[in-house]
Amino acid sequence: MSELQAALAEAHRRYADANPTSRARHEAACAALPGGNTRTVLYYDPFPLAITRGEGCHIWDADGHRYLDLLGEYTAGLFGHSDPVIRAAVRRALDGGITLSGHGMLEGHFAAAVSARFPTMELLRFTNSGTEANLMALATATMATGRRKVLVFDGGYHGSLLAFAHGGSPVNVPHEFVVGTYNDMAGTLELLRTHSDDLAAVLVEPVLGSGGCIPGEPEFLSLLRAETEACGALLIFDEVMTSRLAPGGRQTLLGITPDLMTLGKYVGGGMSFGAFGGRRDLMARFDPRRSDAVAHSGTFNNNVLTMAAGLAAMTEVYTPEIAAALTARGDRLRTSLLEVVERAGAPLQVTGAGSLLAFHFLDAPPRNAADVARGDALLKELFFFDLLDRGFHLARRGMVALSLPVQDADCAAFVDAVAAFLAERESLLSCAKPA
Ligand code: PMP
Repeated sequence: MSELQAALAEAHRRYADANPTSRARHEAACAALPGGNTRTVLYYDPFPLAITRGEGCHIWDADGHRYLDLLGEYTAGLFGHSDPVIRAAVRRALDGGITLSGHGMLEGHFAAAVSARFPTMELLRFTNSGTEANLMALATATMATGRRKVLVFDGGYHGSLLAFAHGGSPVNVPHEFVVGTYNDMAGTLELLRTHSDDLAAVLVEPVLGSGGCIPGEPEFLSLLRAETEACGALLIFDEVMTSRLAPGGRQTLLGITPDLMTLGKYVGGGMSFGAFGGRRDLMARFDPRRSDAVAHSGTFNNNVLTMAAGLAAMTEVYTPEIAAALTARGDRLRTSLLEVVERAGAPLQVTGAGSLLAFHFLDAPPRNAADVARGDALLKELFFFDLLDRGFHLARRGMVALSLPVQDADCAAFVDAVAAFLAERESLLSCAKPA
């Protein structure tokens, strides 16, 4: 057993000893849920924490430990756990009764607010998840173009049926996917030219989110815009995560307008949410007044809790000014972390954009999924358990998504904790460095 493996085994032991209630919950849940789990990303060995409550930017586990929540529900928890404006909106909605069997008074207002904020969405429709939003965007593209192929990128994640870590997944929907390499201009151009006649769409995240918070390089994303336009395919930006980065989404920072875009996560104020939308001519096919209308259904598409929470969240809480401030706080945090890493001379990269960050135990910044896969997995796991032990909760895969209640002092405490990790584990980190 290497020194690193021994340190990890010790971290697991410490974790298991400190969390007997989480372990018991996990074991009981295995009776009816495969692996005690109904959402794969939340699982990690030896068993995942059970989280029992949250307030502001803190969460508590079933054994009573408090953590600074730096994961922010993989970006859906942007508002923290108890935003008073959103709570009031949800309470009002509950007081009016739920599942009302009809149009409500809020969905038009909410859609108008989303469209005003993300002008690419001339028209939009709500769904229940980002997965569904992307499924509908792709269906819109294949319908509009009469073509079947879809270009996606290795490491991309567009939902549980549209997952391209390691190239794809056996549960993916059966579109004719062509899988390119993120940020690879030459290879992508070749794929685009090869498939130009039957390409329906390019579906891309402006920052590879789940795949490691890797910003799409502006020239790469511009190439996708130019080439899709040239060959008659649609460009779909999945801004489920990246829409938080600027008032109009990352696309406005890049000056690129896609044909369609998708949203999810935080835009529903913390309730189940998704939306797809874009060019009026494309979305108008869903207008039920038209003789050639195509149906798009979903019992909970206009559920009153999401409509109320989302409207309050996007108009009263996550205003354009607040969005810009959160991005600036994230950029400051990344800069501070990079300074600490540089001082320690550690083989650690901190990637991302604005309030989205990820840690990679690598010698150089990753540009695509294959680079990410070369990172040291054991060090990343040790980092997760050590930070947990110090009271910081981030994704097991090393991702951070800041929420609004996180303050500069919280960020500073996190930077100190990362510095302490680098100091304490110095010998393991230097072993991991290539000669
Ligand atoms: N697209 C992106 C970029 C995502 O990060 C996610 C969720 N991680 C989705 C789509 C799917 O959203 P949901 O989990 O709401 O289905």
